[in-house]
Amino acid sequence: MTSPARFKGIAASIGVAVGLARVVGRERRRPSCRQIDDTAISSELARFARAVSNSRADIESAKQELTDRHGSTYAPIMDVYLLMHGDALLIDATSDAIRNDKVNAEWALSRVTERLKKPLLEDPSPYFQERARDIEHVREHLMRHLCGEQRSEPSTDGPAVLIAHDLTPADAVHMLAPPTVGLVTEVGAESSHTAILARTFGVPAVVGVGPLPADIEDDDVVLVDGFAGEVTVGASPEERRAAETRRDRFSAFLKAERSTSAVTRDGVSISVAANVELPSEVEAALAHGAEGIGLYRTEFMCLSRREPPSEEEQLEAYRGVVSAMAPRQVVFRTFDWRGDKRLRAHDLGERGRAWLKTQINAVLRASSEGSVALMFPMVATVEEFCEARALVEECRNGLSDERARSAQLPIGMMVEVPSAALLAERFAEHADFFAVGTNDLAHYTLAFDRRDSRSSAKPLDPAVLGLLQRAITAASDAQTPCSMCGDMAADPVALCLALGLGYRQISVPVSVIPLARAVIRNVDLQVAAAVAGDAMKCVSADEVRALVVDRLDAQLGALWKEQGIV
Ligand code: PEP
Ligand code: MG
Repeated sequence: MTSPARFKGIAASIGVAVGLARVVGRERRRPSCRQIDDTAISSELARFARAVSNSRADIESAKQELTDRHGSTYAPIMDVYLLMHGDALLIDATSDAIRNDKVNAEWALSRVTERLKKPLLEDPSPYFQERARDIEHVREHLMRHLCGEQRSEPSTDGPAVLIAHDLTPADAVHMLAPPTVGLVTEVGAESSHTAILARTFGVPAVVGVGPLPADIEDDDVVLVDGFAGEVTVGASPEERRAAETRRDRFSAFLKAERSTSAVTRDGVSISVAANVELPSEVEAALAHGAEGIGLYRTEFMCLSRREPPSEEEQLEAYRGVVSAMAPRQVVFRTFDWRGDKRLRAHDLGERGRAWLKTQINAVLRASSEGSVALMFPMVATVEEFCEARALVEECRNGLSDERARSAQLPIGMMVEVPSAALLAERFAEHADFFAVGTNDLAHYTLAFDRRDSRSSAKPLDPAVLGLLQRAITAASDAQTPCSMCGDMAADPVALCLALGLGYRQISVPVSVIPLARAVIRNVDLQVAAAVAGDAMKCVSADEVRALVVDRLDAQLGALWKEQGIV
């Protein structure tokens, strides 16, 4: 690249990386259709079967590598892909297409995967978009074997930043290790498996940057800003030096912050828990000093499965997490099928209700291992929360295990639909605790798509702040514990406002815990409360942000600047 080029994407894994571009697999394969005659069908089927078996071996090897590096708890990510290698809708359907349509395996596989992806892609929910990507990833592995290609290997000369259209999780396991120091992908989302692995391995990543120019070459200097979601290709020497300084400062900061406290300047202790998606994150949550798990997104257990895991399978996973975290509390959220569409237990019909009961049984049974709470997402009416509570009682009464039947676990709800915040005092009569989800609350309040990269400022909109204030005030009046687990708490500027509004419990992604604690230690709550009051009079989220940055500069300016946040 001759002059620096800058790209904006989704900040998927925090930190700063400086390295040489390593462009991998950006070319999109377009298989052509080749008709085969009857005599060639069996050899084509055998060729496809070989590709499936070799591809499965690749994923097994990635699973082993993941287990060697991070223990067995990481296996579920790869199990999802292994299962897909035996999936009738994908594998058998491709063989059928080869046989019936008399076409080459590449073409049959492409047709089948496009057909499977179509209904998923039509659904705007990030969850279903990601499931479509899982299919795409398996297709990529199978195609590679059909076409006789090797996986690209990271360059060994110096720190590398991988630039890819997408990276399958199995490739991520092999490639997100030294000398790779950063990752940039054209597609992807914060919740994709590859993004989760980047966070797990501590590799700064920006995903979903959109189509990158073809003239990015290996050895261009690339800067990855995993805080702001920015990528610079062909950086100048000055930019490179500045990024290296930020990178070194951040890693020194992380080391120093491992065991610090979360007490504000005026001596108020704030509880900082972790949001987790997979059991594998528990180890890191403990290492970062999480005071509990404030949001366990259980739907991640169901990735790429047509049905949730059985009660026993869930029980085993939940028990492991609860006993590892004990005596700290783990808040299990029941399956949130769609992050951006209301689809609650009764909307799913009898099947959904049965799944929910299976899950509640597993959580009730796991609660004897330690401190457990259960909460429901997307609650919009008092009536449906009462129904959800009644369902818990129904499950409890149906259990044969006496200990599980007598388990006294708090039953709470997410406050993430505006109606729940508006009627928070009514909900507080029924819920044992609230967990405020700012991602969906902003989305539903402002009719602004949470997947839009510009939406990160939106929880700061005065309308959302008003709802956040209502929720915390109602909770305090009713002495109902109320935490904030949406991404507003993970934003080092917005967090100050949450504290100013009165939130004293937060739950944030594991990698953000050290930074959140440092912000808390620098905040004076009286000053933050005054800023929150004035923020209500602003006209936009951007104005609120500027106000916080300006008014809290004396307390937090140095930290924000040091970490490159403002
Ligand atoms: C939220 O909506 O803020 C939240 C924490 O839930 P999720 O991001 O899982 O939808
Ligand atoms: Mg939500």
